[in-house]
Amino acid sequence: MKKKPLKNRLAKHVQKLPKSGIRDFFELVNQMDDVISLGIGEPDFVTTKNIRQAAIDSLNNGNTGYTSNLGMLSLREEVCKYVETHYEVSYCPVEECIITVGVSEALDLAMRAILNPGDEAIYCEPCFVSYEPEIRMAFGEPVKVECLEKDNFALDPEKLREKITDKTKLLLLNFPCNPTGATLNKQQMTQIAEIAVEHDLFVLTDEIYSELTYENRLPTIASFPGMRERTVFLHGFSKAYAMTGFRAGYACGPFEIIDAMMKIHQYAMMCAPTIAQVAAEAALKHSWDEMLEMKAEYRQRRDFIVDSLNAMGLKCFRPEGAFYVFPNITSTGLTSMEFASRLLKECNVAVVPGTAFGQCGEGFIRCSYATSIDEIKQAMTKMTQFVASL
Ligand code: PMP
Repeated sequence: MKKKPLKNRLAKHVQKLPKSGIRDFFELVNQMDDVISLGIGEPDFVTTKNIRQAAIDSLNNGNTGYTSNLGMLSLREEVCKYVETHYEVSYCPVEECIITVGVSEALDLAMRAILNPGDEAIYCEPCFVSYEPEIRMAFGEPVKVECLEKDNFALDPEKLREKITDKTKLLLLNFPCNPTGATLNKQQMTQIAEIAVEHDLFVLTDEIYSELTYENRLPTIASFPGMRERTVFLHGFSKAYAMTGFRAGYACGPFEIIDAMMKIHQYAMMCAPTIAQVAAEAALKHSWDEMLEMKAEYRQRRDFIVDSLNAMGLKCFRPEGAFYVFPNITSTGLTSMEFASRLLKECNVAVVPGTAFGQCGEGFIRCSYATSIDEIKQAMTKMTQFVASL
């Protein structure tokens, strides 16, 4: 019998998934020397010493086994305290909180626990590269709603309303947003919450950048009327606590949802790494002030980079959160990919083409300011020369 090629025998929905556009671009960056990168969405800070020390001590004490499937109770207690203090919504650590392998796993669990094949899940574009594939991997139907420059990349509640059908089950939010840095104001959040209640939607709120909100910080949408019962609050330690490599995150939500997520987690993952859980607990207990120091530094960099981009003629709004800016490059006459490729080849500066975050990112680039101010200054000087030369 003639066999089909191996690739064609694999799961069809996986075959159809594209590889992340960001990865392709960084293959190119990695082949070059002396690149100043404004590309990576990862803090340039090393995890602070007390967090690292807690992990080292834990290993030295022989703490190398599994934890409970939901995660260490002491960590879940710290998480629920933290969420109540900073986000104004309270959860029970025993049954409404699960520790995951980053927000990445929490997103995957939540989608798989909630979606049936064919259910529509609305997400905002431009967005984190994983959202659409994650919905597809959970056999949902991704429905995008565009967040436009004229709205400072916030989600316009009316545009959301237009996308709702009788198949819509879930709304995925991420404010402050990767890649735009956009946040929602109180009126927008209130209206979005009202729409979710009216249409009985589940809401996943990816709060991974929420500590890094520089102005007008609001509590989570999970704290708005009627929202707690339908919302899964997803958060982690990668960004604000500079702990990407630890792979620690969590989800809080109503018992029924967490319990369903827990089943998938238990069979697929057992538990989040013990060492990461110990480190995460130390972060919540001891590292608030150090987190605020990093945040202050990000804020200064944001102001510098936004002013520099506008001064060189690339229109850029001042986002209130995350560590990204998303300038408009249409005045150069180049596409996002052309701009990023030429900037890389001609000036050794890496930025990410806006299209890596969805088609409506055309005409924009993402610059991360999770890079030292010296490197940002050099990058801005080179970029100014590049733009002037066009
Ligand atoms: N959500 C968003 C919006 C992100 O930008 C990222 C990482 N870039 C993640 C989730 C994944 O984070 P984690 O390291 O916690 O898996």
